[in-house]
Amino acid sequence: TVMVRRRMKRRRKWRKVVGILKDLEEACETPLGRLRQMVDAVAVEMQAGLVSEGGSKLKMLLTFVDDLPNGSERGTYYALHLGGSYFRIIRVHLSGQRSSLDVQDIERHSIPTSLMNSTSEVLFDFLASSLQRFIEKEGNSQAVKRELAFTFSFPVKQTSISSGVLIKWTKGFAISEMAGEDISECLQGALNKRGLDIRVAALVNDTVGALSFGHYHDPDTIAAVVFGTGSNACYLERTDAIIKCQNPRTTSGSMVVNMEWGNFWSSRLPRTSYDLELDAESMNSNDMGFEKMIGGMYLGDIVRRVILRMSQESDIFGPISSILSTPFVLRTNSVSAMHEDDTPELQEVAKILKELGVSEVPLKVRKLVVKICDVVTRRAARLAAAGITGILKKVGRDGSGGEGGRKRSHKQIMRRTVVAVEGGLYLNYKMFREYMDEALGDILGGKVAKHVVIKAMEDGSSIGSALLLASSHSVQTIPSV
Ligand code: BGC
Repeated sequence: TVMVRRRMKRRRKWRKVVGILKDLEEACETPLGRLRQMVDAVAVEMQAGLVSEGGSKLKMLLTFVDDLPNGSERGTYYALHLGGSYFRIIRVHLSGQRSSLDVQDIERHSIPTSLMNSTSEVLFDFLASSLQRFIEKEGNSQAVKRELAFTFSFPVKQTSISSGVLIKWTKGFAISEMAGEDISECLQGALNKRGLDIRVAALVNDTVGALSFGHYHDPDTIAAVVFGTGSNACYLERTDAIIKCQNPRTTSGSMVVNMEWGNFWSSRLPRTSYDLELDAESMNSNDMGFEKMIGGMYLGDIVRRVILRMSQESDIFGPISSILSTPFVLRTNSVSAMHEDDTPELQEVAKILKELGVSEVPLKVRKLVVKICDVVTRRAARLAAAGITGILKKVGRDGSGGEGGRKRSHKQIMRRTVVAVEGGLYLNYKMFREYMDEALGDILGGKVAKHVVIKAMEDGSSIGSALLLASSHSVQTIPSV
């Protein structure tokens, strides 16, 4: 009878855990109808954000970029890219032909966490010293008059193509006294202090860098999305649709708009209690709600929270691990490694759980963990697909016959439409990519999806920013949307 009682107890606990998984699945559901509502909501919010400042949670920031690179650029340019987890420095040489794009040097470093909540002085001196080392490596062989594009992956209110102020930090950065500062000036000041003769000549959001890179290689590229530590999108908009901008002086009739879609919100988003907790405990609560469901920084932590809840409500994970209780210990690359573990015994899952202080869980529990990863990542990828389709709808490229909410009586003629995609989450997480592609196909329908090309690009944001800087020196036009 002791054995029987024990078995019954085990069963009860298992049922409890399965119940938690079921609740998660239900709360994360993204049926096609809901995704379509999201597509509409994105297009509507885009419109609202273009009409007036603060008209939507989507900031729809002006970038002052109207000329996108097309391959005819010349010269040697530098880019310094401060992302969410990495920073990169590159030098490119352009000789007027697309095929001769020469990325001469590229350095990638992870950002020390101590830097994320240091001071503005420390941050910019760190960037300046890294750039100094990079330039010193060159010796005297390069041009003396150096120009730099600063790829800054945070929301900035641009005042020109080369200047702008930080609106707020995201992705765990928390350097006080920075909001409202001109970012280019901060970097330029730090470079000057070190006696570096290099001019910060462009300030570029990473999505805009990715769009430039995409457009350089393929002029049908009209939007770019980053799925990295954070998430965001930008696209090419007609200036006459940017109503909040009284005087949009562009020769091309278009301007790139940085949506800052991480802050998108709709009551239709499938939000769980784990999302609520994550938001409440984050440094920027009530902010960046969409990013917290799809950004690489957060997916791991959602999964961790589900496992923790299961471990608190049953003992299937053994005694509650203090490591597992630590925010952000489970990184999204571990989630993808567990999700894509194809060993018969799920050894990778066992290894990662062990690192989290959970060892010797039976195979059926490891399978449960894989399922949690699947639910969280699938939701993220499908929401991402709805976001992309929202942009296509706004610019009249979703096959629905409407543009910017206006219905036309005749069917749209579908033009080839390229969306550039950058960021580690997309590039390194196969299941995320597959779920996103599948959802795009479902939402758009086969006929339309055929015209929409998603192009992945590594280092596109950094290289693209240098290309953009180069193109601001040459005269050209971009087709209107
Ligand atoms: C920032 C965006 C950036 C995105 C992707 C977000 O947290 O607000 O400016 O483009 O991350 O890096």
